Amino acid sequence: MGLDMTRAFNFSAGPAAIPTEVLERAQKELLNWNGYGCSVMELGHRTPDFQTILDKTEDDLRKLLNIPKNYKVLFMHGSASHQFAMVPMNFLAPGETANYLEMDHWSKMCIKEASRFGDMHIQQGIRTNSDGLLELVPENEWSLDEKGKYLHFTSNETIVGVQFQDDPQSFSGKLVSDMCSDILSRPIDIEKYALIYAGAQKNIGPSGMTVVIVREDLFESFQTERVPSLFQYPHVSSKGSMPNTPPSFGIYFAGLVFEWLLEQGGIEEMYQRNLKKAHMLYDYVDQSNFYHSPVAKGSRSFMNVAIQMKDRKHEERFLHEARENHLIALKGHKTFGGLRASIYNAMSIEGVETLIRFMDQFEQRLK
Ligand SMILES: *Cc1c(COP(=O)(O)O)cnc(C)c1O
Repeated sequence: MGLDMTRAFNFSAGPAAIPTEVLERAQKELLNWNGYGCSVMELGHRTPDFQTILDKTEDDLRKLLNIPKNYKVLFMHGSASHQFAMVPMNFLAPGETANYLEMDHWSKMCIKEASRFGDMHIQQGIRTNSDGLLELVPENEWSLDEKGKYLHFTSNETIVGVQFQDDPQSFSGKLVSDMCSDILSRPIDIEKYALIYAGAQKNIGPSGMTVVIVREDLFESFQTERVPSLFQYPHVSSKGSMPNTPPSFGIYFAGLVFEWLLEQGGIEEMYQRNLKKAHMLYDYVDQSNFYHSPVAKGSRSFMNVAIQMKDRKHEERFLHEARENHLIALKGHKTFGGLRASIYNAMSIEGVETLIRFMDQFEQRLK
């Protein structure tokens, strides 16, 4: 038997699916980019050609997200977890306080890192309601430290599938957000934020690079004397994201994804498609007696759809048969269990329809 070469519908939470057209283009350009005679991986980062790639990547991201001129866009090495530490390293002087919304896994990891650099004023952002469902704690029940240097929150908790439906309103200070798993999925009012960061591997491209969008006038207030230069936002910015060799292939790849998004019609179009995919899936789960959503309406993520089976003993068989049907990576995170369908920009409506059909047939088979 030959190797199965079918490209599956990939519901991975991250590293996540990349549009097939983008992979094909990268493949086509891999050996010889733009007639240059080598791959982008092999291209010096100080060449005018690489600078062209970097500039175009930044311009396209600015177009997609409508990023105002007074914000800097940084393409940085490393992951979102690096930003967990970098944000307080830049924003806080010793003894200063910041507000953190504690959600699930990622925000807990973030608070753990940030607490090395300042005092944490923690507000719970998520709870279990009387029906046993996860929900956001309503903003009018929050208690924040108004003198805190900023409020950090995770706009979409990838692991449990809980997402803010609006930007927080109640904090008058600076907003900082981890948008790893919902950046580029919906319009964002950048001007409400001091800083936004997102690791690439959910909705941007391959892992190893993180995008930071930061308001430039804040640089003056950053407390960076003690901070290694590669971790200082003003330094990375003054060097145009290239204080050293940048993650050049990741930047190029992100650029291909941004071009693809623009061709699709931009963020408003992706947002409509994303809402449609999520509604299809939640509507199906809600009418089912076999599956259910562990998240209350009004708190549900339209990027990471957590699904549980009423009888959890079928999970393993479900995952196995899904795989055989080219529906992969539907297992929930190890800390939360159940199933999870991550339906980022690269997941087509057809992919979600195929999943729903499979879920229905799976239920029928067990009857
Ligand atoms: C995936 C993810 C992270 C962690 O990303 P790394 O690149 O592995 O550090 C952080 N926050 C959120 C919301 C995520 O989804």
